Amino acid sequence: MRKKIVAGNWKMNLDYAEGMSLFSEIANMVKDEITGQQLAVICSPFIHLSSLVQLAKSYDKVAVGAQNAHQYESGAYTGEISAKMVKSTGAAYVILGHSERRQYFGEDNQLLAQKTLTALNNGLKPIFCIGETLNERESEQHFEVIKTQLEEGVFSLSTEQFEQLVLAYEPVWAIGTGKTASSEQAQEIHAFIREQIANNYTQEVADNTTILYGGSCNPKNAADLFAQPDIDGGLIGGASLKSRDFLDIVKVFN
Ligand code: PEP
Repeated sequence: MRKKIVAGNWKMNLDYAEGMSLFSEIANMVKDEITGQQLAVICSPFIHLSSLVQLAKSYDKVAVGAQNAHQYESGAYTGEISAKMVKSTGAAYVILGHSERRQYFGEDNQLLAQKTLTALNNGLKPIFCIGETLNERESEQHFEVIKTQLEEGVFSLSTEQFEQLVLAYEPVWAIGTGKTASSEQAQEIHAFIREQIANNYTQEVADNTTILYGGSCNPKNAADLFAQPDIDGGLIGGASLKSRDFLDIVKVFN
């Protein structure tokens, strides 16, 4: 059975003390709501990681992740953070390919393929994001865009490597905009993603891959979205900054 995950993406929010306090609040609230193959992951700014990992030791269903890591192992890249550094904090996950990284930092599929490989080589589990822009959806290119992002970003991984990934479908037009993909629109793409995985690997690999939905997911729409057969949870931006909202999204699993 594939893992069901609600992952929070704090983005560039919360100073150190605020991060510690929100994490403790969230972990205490969700700990009794998460069972079996379910997991909550908090993806924080780098400065919080090692302390959150220490806090997370008291909660076996709450994991910690970063929001980025560099494609090279080490070197003269002032200000950058390597996958090995992230791993050394004890963090387990790393978001890669988020549309904000693609859009504001020029990260393309080729670079993301490198980042993914480096993250995997350092024992991190990438939460690999894909999704089309509004223009691409309106011109009906969304399936093609998703297919290319998968082919160029992650489909050259071996089966063993691919099995470490979590995928997140995040239509760019739904991120931080308050517009959510309808559950039918999201399910259609999630089923398409699973089909592409089956074509490139095997049906079994496809069936075991966790595919999250992200884009203005909140306590009101999460139930509809998570009820879809190919949606295995959510990647949550804005609503992960409010403990009550995050809890209510996690509760949808039950
Ligand atoms: C995200 O940043 O991954 C995201 C889904 O943001 P929001 O939930 O705020 O749309």
